[in-house]
Amino acid sequence: MEETMQELREKDRRAATLSHAVAVLGWDQETYMPASAIDERSEQLELLQTMLHEAYTDPRIGELLARLGATDENPRGDQSLAEQDQALVRHVHRWYTRRTKLPADLVAAMARETSLGQSIWARARQESDFSQFAPQLEKLVDLTKQVAECLGYEEHPYDALLDEYEPWMKTSQVRRVFGQLQEDLRTMVQRIVDRPQVDDAFLSEDFAEDKQEAFCRRVLRDIGFDVNRGRMDVSAHPFTTSLGRDDVRITTRYSRRNPTSALFGTIHEAGHALYELGFGDAYRGSSLADGTSLGIHESQSRLWENMIGRSRPFWSYYYPLLQNAFPERLTGISADDFYRAVNKVQPSFIRVEADEVTYGLHIVLRFNLELALVNGDIRVADLPDAWMQTSRELLGISPTTDAEGVLQDIHWSMGGIGYFPTYALGNLYAAQFYHALRSAIPDLDEQLARGELSPVLDWLRSKVHWHGSSLTATELVQRVTGEDLNPQYFIAYLDEKYRDVYGY
Ligand SMILES: [Zn+2]
Repeated sequence: MEETMQELREKDRRAATLSHAVAVLGWDQETYMPASAIDERSEQLELLQTMLHEAYTDPRIGELLARLGATDENPRGDQSLAEQDQALVRHVHRWYTRRTKLPADLVAAMARETSLGQSIWARARQESDFSQFAPQLEKLVDLTKQVAECLGYEEHPYDALLDEYEPWMKTSQVRRVFGQLQEDLRTMVQRIVDRPQVDDAFLSEDFAEDKQEAFCRRVLRDIGFDVNRGRMDVSAHPFTTSLGRDDVRITTRYSRRNPTSALFGTIHEAGHALYELGFGDAYRGSSLADGTSLGIHESQSRLWENMIGRSRPFWSYYYPLLQNAFPERLTGISADDFYRAVNKVQPSFIRVEADEVTYGLHIVLRFNLELALVNGDIRVADLPDAWMQTSRELLGISPTTDAEGVLQDIHWSMGGIGYFPTYALGNLYAAQFYHALRSAIPDLDEQLARGELSPVLDWLRSKVHWHGSSLTATELVQRVTGEDLNPQYFIAYLDEKYRDVYGY
């Protein structure tokens, strides 16, 4: 048994190592690669991706898993295996079966059509014309449904799609949680829009980029990002990528007339990076050294960005430092003015620019439309109208152009149906973890107000990060908070905060 287990560990390690090599090339492409290198880089990436696919679908892995007793009903394998080995068996069994269930021609068609889809989408969005993208999206929806059928599901084809991003989560659970979330968020938005709006005009003045960068790097250091185990660079779209256990890269971008974009973007990506840097030593080199789901990953970025980074105690420490960096811009603006400005709530069309309160409604909108598409309740051609109608119902406003509506996000052009829910789940997990964190550290606010951020990282590291993918998202939430995912923590967090900001 130990010999079989050892061989599985080696196969797993090979795949994990290859995936990090792919990440190095991808990171370089987005940051420093000269434009002329793109053709060769594509060839290099394609070769490595093929090797990676072979590593992930090596039939020997299937034999090893069978020998270790792993089945769909019993993915953890033989009970005599050590706890950590059972976790690895379950993890490998999951990615191996998902990948080998898909026929090669379907995988190839998906790769071809999504690559085409992205360029068609980009042009359609530029010209704000959904009809250009619709035929390609129809193909992608059709392929996605075939993927769901091949993967299999118990209740709903969407289960198979969601599982790619939020392993083990079921559509019925998302539906239940979002149903509750949607009602509470709409009520809260209504209360807020009835109140006088906060003034954030001073945030669109000119803020020098070099000073923004110095401030971002200061905060990055303070929250515990170790520059000996990672880097921060600039890219068109901020992202985090792991090149290994001790090398996690993040990017940000600076905008002179929007200084909070770089700042909160940096904190957000740092939250992702700290998760990647915090996996237990025992998982080094294994695929268990990975985020357990996209929702949990997003919970780590949102907790730092919103619950810490947009909190009153955080700014009672950092605002004087920021004022010092930009005296000509911030003199006469109080810490309270600043705090309220960075927590302004306003229904808007674009998801990525949405505030904490309306954000979830953008996700509910996409989830409802995706379900309707997969069910066949609406046709692709109906999407722009359905988008406008749902937006009016949820956010009280509806876009007049395709670019501000149905074409705004890249996900569908990449075949990513099932991805969106993880963004909102991230907020919910974050609030539930944050509640547990505050219970564990009763004087947290006082510590934050003194600029002491390490207790937050220490707690997250030992409670959340350490486990990597050895626990599922559901197991992790239960272990850390003592209960299942419960959207009430997020609602209570928002309600307490925005009652204060808006005085409703
Ligand atoms: Zn994120």
